Amino acid sequence: FSPWADPSAVPFIRFENITKRFGTFTAVDNLTLDIYEREFFSLLGPSGCGKTTLMRMLAGFEEPTEGRILLQGKDISGVPPYRRPTNMMFQSYALFPHMTVEKNVAFGLEQDNLPKGEIADRVEEMLKLVKLEQFAKRKPNQLSGGQRQRVALARSLAKRPKVLLLDEPLGALDKKLREETQFELMDLQTKLGLTFLIVTHDQEEAMTVSDRIAVMDKGLIMQVATPAEIYEAPNSRYVADFIGDINILEGTVTSTDSALGMPGSVRIDCDGIAVSVEQECQAVKGDKVAFAVRPEKVRISPDQPADISANAVYGEVWDIGYLGDFSVFLVRLADGRVVRAAQANVSRLVDRPITFGDMVWLTWPLDAGLVLTR
Ligand code: ATP
Repeated sequence: FSPWADPSAVPFIRFENITKRFGTFTAVDNLTLDIYEREFFSLLGPSGCGKTTLMRMLAGFEEPTEGRILLQGKDISGVPPYRRPTNMMFQSYALFPHMTVEKNVAFGLEQDNLPKGEIADRVEEMLKLVKLEQFAKRKPNQLSGGQRQRVALARSLAKRPKVLLLDEPLGALDKKLREETQFELMDLQTKLGLTFLIVTHDQEEAMTVSDRIAVMDKGLIMQVATPAEIYEAPNSRYVADFIGDINILEGTVTSTDSALGMPGSVRIDCDGIAVSVEQECQAVKGDKVAFAVRPEKVRISPDQPADISANAVYGEVWDIGYLGDFSVFLVRLADGRVVRAAQANVSRLVDRPITFGDMVWLTWPLDAGLVLTR
């Protein structure tokens, strides 16, 4: 499933040069973004980067200051929220406390004056979908957080929107329940064949549920890609640092043995640490770039490697984070910089254990690192 890779595919939703200002403050800055039908798409970024504002403009709760939003090719400016094929589920769930679960789910349908029989059928169908049939007569305060979340979901889906907008839908749930619910959401989305747009600042959540992610910063989109691309090939220091754990060393390109834009090896001097990367890269000699490598790509060993001319640093184990399936080693170099290596714990009992105060070598292969030019 990758409609975005098909140049002839027509986007389901298009944000076209959208700017939103509140007074003199620019919350969304000339942003263009395409989302395809049946995509599970995440807007990911830190608090205040404009994610919710973008979603609210699609729902019709805010009007763009500039630009237009197209739904199936049609400009939806001026169409009121209730006439848009979108439905938004809020972080607070906004359930009516005095109404039972079934009344909450029926509410929007009653507002639309649907026939009674149809309302009853749809409520039943929705409660079954979110596995809450036996809770139909309860009030929200008689439910757990996870159950309330599912009532809100059932209510949002009851109106059969084409696009479901989810603003931090799992923010109120504890970690375990959140993870379970992520899989339920994915399952539901596939079953119903709907387009889901989710706002989150939780990168693990975005990575788990999404077909694609837009990483945002200060009203701008920094990168739009699949979770794997975002993790393996972040396009900037910002995205690399925002998603997962990563070592970033600033440096200067000393040589490249490839034609511009072609794969080849790039050598970088990071203040005395020589780094060599095999990558397709736009950088040329003298450019200021960042070198980045994920901790799990860094090998840690007490033994000196055969070749220490590049991609090898020596230091003292200063801290160890034990995370069950793997451990993260913080290694302090002679100049005070800290490089992190992560090691799977499968062979813990067999390996010579590395511990606090040990002097170790950190090495990584040519294709493990990234050169970041912005
Ligand atoms: P969060 O994760 O905290 O919800 P967000 O990325 O969703 O953050 P938005 O809610 O879109 O951020 O807000 C973006 C910026 O626009 C923030 O700085 C916010 O203060 C500002 N903003 C949002 N709505 C308004 C408003 N109605 N009036 C003035 N400023 C606003």
